[in-house]
Amino acid sequence: MAKLKSITIPVSTYEYVLRYLDKAAAKIKLDENLLRIIKDPRKITIVKLPIQMDDGSFQVFTGYRVQHSTVRGPGKGGIRYHPNVNLDEVKSLAAWMTWKCAIMGIPFGGAKGGITCDPKKMSMNELERLTRRYAADLADVLGPEKDVPAPDVNTNAQTMAWIMDTYCMHRGEYSPSVVTGKPVVLGGSRGRHDATGNGVAIAVREAAKALGMKLNECTAAVQGFGNVGSIAARSLMEKGVKVVAISDVNGGLENKKGIDVNALIKYTAGNKGSISGFSGAKEISKNRILTFKCDILIPAALENVITEKNAAKVKAKIIGEGANGPTTPDADAILRKNGVTVIPDILCNAGGVTVSYFEWVQDRLGYFWSEEDVNNRLEEHLVRAFNDVFAVSREFKCSLRLAAYILAVKRVTEVLLLRGVYA
Ligand code: GLU
Repeated sequence: MAKLKSITIPVSTYEYVLRYLDKAAAKIKLDENLLRIIKDPRKITIVKLPIQMDDGSFQVFTGYRVQHSTVRGPGKGGIRYHPNVNLDEVKSLAAWMTWKCAIMGIPFGGAKGGITCDPKKMSMNELERLTRRYAADLADVLGPEKDVPAPDVNTNAQTMAWIMDTYCMHRGEYSPSVVTGKPVVLGGSRGRHDATGNGVAIAVREAAKALGMKLNECTAAVQGFGNVGSIAARSLMEKGVKVVAISDVNGGLENKKGIDVNALIKYTAGNKGSISGFSGAKEISKNRILTFKCDILIPAALENVITEKNAAKVKAKIIGEGANGPTTPDADAILRKNGVTVIPDILCNAGGVTVSYFEWVQDRLGYFWSEEDVNNRLEEHLVRAFNDVFAVSREFKCSLRLAAYILAVKRVTEVLLLRGVYA
């Protein structure tokens, strides 16, 4: 009989979400019926998308939209284009949106979408056809009062413009508030593009303050140089932090004197988005970034990168989760034991959805705010949410992550109880 050498069990990120949820529920002795209701997503839509490629051939892509909760308001959350997109991931991302919106106190539930594809290998025309077909198939699922998408990994303002246009053409109406993160000329909000990254830096500043650390004496390492990582790095630099290491999918950079983030952002714009070959820093292996010697670590790429394998080697004192789900629960426990303060994703990167909320409000009013106004309101919302989570962590003597889950679960179940369960 053949010997069984090793079995690789695929990681279920949703199992991780449930583990945190169970912990939070146990801490507040949540009624088990309520827990059962909030554990499962409310609605899952899966669509097959046949698309004609530029060479004339047809490819069939799979698209997802998961509405985890619509208890506190319409579903809200981004759409991701990536080869690894799958139902388990989209479910997890949707659940995190529910908790994120509850923590920020904005009137949305949680949703997320995705298409399994490799956008880096597709032309603009192919991406437009794919996006429009997806939006057309979901025209009945989406809506300003139902479910409001936004950009996520590998999608952007142009993607949102296509979705908005497709939705409006199908409905025969002008409904810009069906998506957020649109170009400003189409009813997008000023400040939305930078909001997630700016929010990460605000959350890090608040955590540093709580720990008695001075930002102008701190160094940072940033994993990922997309919309979140690049702006978080720039915003930290503006707050006095020396950004000593940065990585992206292609490689890593190090400069002990501090990387000029503005120069790097300019450089990547002319280098297909890649940081490789930048002259203002030394090239290093991207694998070194998470354990790089620094005070502040910003994982701003994908989920499950800080695991039980590398968590003990993390040198940073603060981790600001720019990405969704970058830390596995086992790694989280190790970091806590080692005294690392983790600002959880559902708080740390919530600046994006907060300004998405402002965009939705502005679209519905038909009245648009200045960038300064948007940024001041973002600051106010994030500081308040940070303080709320911090207070819960004191009350329950627990990590910021568990505190964030506790706060979110309390806020969602409070509304669920008031609304009751319709049967
Ligand atoms: N994709 C972002 C997130 O994960 C933004 C979602 C939104 O603005 O709706 O928070």
